[in-house]
Amino acid sequence: MAAIAWIGLGNMGGPMAANLVRAGHAVTGFDLSPAACDAARATGVAIAASAAAAAAGAEVVVTMLPAGRHLVEAYEGGLVAGAPAGALFIDSSTVDVASARQAHDLAAGAGMMAVDAPVSGGVGGASAGTLTFMAGGTPAALDRARPILAAMGKRVVACGGPGAGQAAKMCNNMILGIAMIGISEAFVLAEKLGLDHQALFDVASTSSGQCWALTNHCPVPGPVPASAANHGYRPGFATALMLKDLTLARDAAAAVGAETALGAQAREIFARFAESGGAALDYSAVIGAIRGG
Ligand code: NAD
Repeated sequence: MAAIAWIGLGNMGGPMAANLVRAGHAVTGFDLSPAACDAARATGVAIAASAAAAAAGAEVVVTMLPAGRHLVEAYEGGLVAGAPAGALFIDSSTVDVASARQAHDLAAGAGMMAVDAPVSGGVGGASAGTLTFMAGGTPAALDRARPILAAMGKRVVACGGPGAGQAAKMCNNMILGIAMIGISEAFVLAEKLGLDHQALFDVASTSSGQCWALTNHCPVPGPVPASAANHGYRPGFATALMLKDLTLARDAAAAVGAETALGAQAREIFARFAESGGAALDYSAVIGAIRGG
């Protein structure tokens, strides 16, 4: 069992760190929010006075922070310097590829191994320990990270070198965002044509329109009982997070000159929906904006 430092004990980091405690690891955490620290303490995480203090003595340092600037600031602000020689750095936040690579470089510059390992599965998957990790780093770093990630998820996909995990995450979520817009447009068109929701679902879910977003996150109430549409569009996967991921994809596409017209348009639609009050709703609630209601 390993001594693990955990920085960022929020909605995702809190339950993920708790799963490491459950697996028998000694976890020392830090978060700027006292409430997040209190909640983590109640699950068995020891709380340190700073990120650097949490990292002192750690074999593995995990970060679960809001965005790239928080990650780089944490690494530069004492996290890397505070960790013992040879520590493994894992970042599971969703950040831009450039920040992920900068974090790898900062760790490597101090002689440490690093892995970018963003997740899919949301707060439910974080609590249940069923996340999917998309991992980028050297094969040796990925080998070291695997047993730690396995205590928090059901799958670890090795995506390539530094930053490849973040690249995979944003490409996957761009597909998801575009898919939800397409599904929503189809249901709205069906409504105007007098076609029943269930009839469209029964056809599309067993025909060439079939896709994961339709069969898991169907945006209208009825066909998929567990979908957010049946529960007041409580997330689930919040529109604000979808917008974040589509913005990362847009910026990455601009940086490398990739043509992502539908990704950019999906981002615009989610941005307008978020601005008009949808940010905290599940991303499938975007059907309301498409319907014009
Ligand atoms: P959150 O806002 O609940 O948690 C982030 C935590 O980081 C907060 O508690 C905040 O106080 C803390 N923090 C910020 N700066 C810090 C610093 N310098 N030092 C210590 N703590 C600091 O966010 P979340 O929902 O847990 O998401 C975390 C990451 O996971 C994000 O990058 C997000 O995009 C990604 N993610 C979230 C979900 C989801 O469903 N919530 C799903 C997949 C990926």
